[in-house]
Amino acid sequence: MKVTVWNEFRHEVEPGHESGKVYPEGIHKVIAGFLAEAGFDVKTATLDEPEHGLTDEVLADTDVLIWWGHMAHHEVSDEIVQKVFDRVMFGGMGFIALHSGHFSKPFGKLMGTGCNLKWNEYGESERVWVINPAHPITKGLPEYFDVPKTEMYGERFDIPQPDDLVFISWYPSGEVFRSGCCWSRGKGKVFYFSPGHETYPIYKQKEIQQVIINAVNWAAPTGTEVTYGRWFDRFDKK
Ligand code: ZN
Repeated sequence: MKVTVWNEFRHEVEPGHESGKVYPEGIHKVIAGFLAEAGFDVKTATLDEPEHGLTDEVLADTDVLIWWGHMAHHEVSDEIVQKVFDRVMFGGMGFIALHSGHFSKPFGKLMGTGCNLKWNEYGESERVWVINPAHPITKGLPEYFDVPKTEMYGERFDIPQPDDLVFISWYPSGEVFRSGCCWSRGKGKVFYFSPGHETYPIYKQKEIQQVIINAVNWAAPTGTEVTYGRWFDRFDKK
């Protein structure tokens, strides 16, 4: 299974920014690291590479694309966004949007809604509840787990009704959030997972890594063929 981890990679290299201390090599390297350890064939791509690292060859060679972006969503070219969208819809590539990727162009295009939400950065804890234990993305997880320090993401989250709601997060301040959501889009699958603020070591937490590993397995293309347009088969063969 071929996974490409895309990261905007701007906060980590901003002088003095906290995320550079937490992720000196970049968020994408940490995610790629635990995915490679889990046995996946992993590439990385970043915003400032030519074509944002997502050339036709790279996209054609990607089964699941993971997306982390925050401050530079608007710098992602519409042409690349269209290619990502087409690869999901017609090629069956899985797309996993993480954290502030809720406002990324490809996720917004796949959802068709504003994808807005509430947030604060008080650094409170987050309790992630498994609410669909039959779903493969929850494999090996406890009933709930805590992220010690997080950025609160709260409802309402302006997304289409998920096909499967896998996680709900709760925060001591009282907010709740649909933190793990699944959709089918064309031939492809989309998963959104909210934990992952850039100034906390959230992607180094075992349970978080397990969710992302499970999500990659779930989002893999099925390879099932689809035909659109006039259907020949039975009558034309007579
Ligand atoms: Zn954040």
